[in-house]
Amino acid sequence: MTEVNKQIQLAKRPKGLPTMEDFRFVEGSIPRACEGEVVIRTLYLSVDPYMRGRMNDEKSYIAPFQLDEVITGGVIGEVVESRSTQFKQGDVVSGMLGWQQFSVAHENELRKLSPELAPVTTALGILGMPGLTAYFGLLEIGKPQEGETVVVSGAAGAVGSIVGQIAKIKGARVVGIAGSDEKISYLLDELGFDAAINYKTETSVKRALQHSCPDGVDVYFDNVGGEVSDAVMPLLNRFARIPLCGAISSYNAAGKDIGPRIQPYLVKNSVLMQGFIVANYQDRFTEGIKELATWLREGKLTYEETITEGFENIPDAFLGLFEGKNLGKQLVKVAEAKYAIL
Ligand code: NDP
Repeated sequence: MTEVNKQIQLAKRPKGLPTMEDFRFVEGSIPRACEGEVVIRTLYLSVDPYMRGRMNDEKSYIAPFQLDEVITGGVIGEVVESRSTQFKQGDVVSGMLGWQQFSVAHENELRKLSPELAPVTTALGILGMPGLTAYFGLLEIGKPQEGETVVVSGAAGAVGSIVGQIAKIKGARVVGIAGSDEKISYLLDELGFDAAINYKTETSVKRALQHSCPDGVDVYFDNVGGEVSDAVMPLLNRFARIPLCGAISSYNAAGKDIGPRIQPYLVKNSVLMQGFIVANYQDRFTEGIKELATWLREGKLTYEETITEGFENIPDAFLGLFEGKNLGKQLVKVAEAKYAIL
């Protein structure tokens, strides 16, 4: 192999919304495999909101990215060189690799994908981390019951779009909150949500919610935090549940994000609010993927992907998440497969 290995490092810790100066493009050499390892050519990679938190130097559930090192994340690639008995050239794998064209990984760090069973990109979306987040967060914490009202924010994104559909499968009434008319049409027309609210154009999200949730809110799946979530709190029913999945509205905030006090709403209605990370359910991932794949095959679930082309556009695709440019799962296509049949 004579090619170089284009890579993207974290050059600076962003202040507020990251800029291109926070990223550095470098060229490394193609790694070689040692015993038990494989070399992988990146085909698709995932950009995710949680990566913004890893750019800060602060304690969290996952270690910060290191400055001057390649940014890591979910990747789908093809094996180009193997010194593992478990993988051969042309196998398609997924793993936590890097924003780079080639990676080396130990066989234990990779999952082999079956392109004949589902499009490989689903391993980074509906049949991967976002799908599992929706599945476990909604079913284990939200516990939607037939006839209940489920509200989901970030509703047209990777996690939110699956949350709403699973809630429909469970017989709930589903109301989505998202940031464009195109997304609202998608939720209503393609995913069968019962109502959808554009938080960017509604003069009062609270009033729109009151209108869309005449029986109050039993489950609020919170992907965004901030003012959108503030508007949901007064509508919570007795024994409502709130899976706290994310708070993207504050990921780029310069100062502390202070809002109304929510304790009174929680106390007076005996509401359960629980933060979670998908890794809490790691030992049940196989079960989650199996059920999601069954629903997908049966046509009960559908999904959307926004695929940006080209390695050099990775930072742009990442930044687009904070402007709501994606519908469904945001991916970057880095290369065509040379050995794998997709
Ligand atoms: P999405 O695919 O939903 O992309 C992000 C979306 O967030 C954008 O499309 C945009 O949609 C919306 N958004 C951006 N800025 C704001 C804002 N200021 N206020 C409200 N909405 C905003 O991402 P994911 O589905 O991957 O992630 C959704 C949430 O779930 C994130 O908060 C993420 O951190 C969290 N998460 C948590 C996990 C866990 O284990 N707890 C695992 C995976 C994700 P719009 O056009 O509607 O504004």
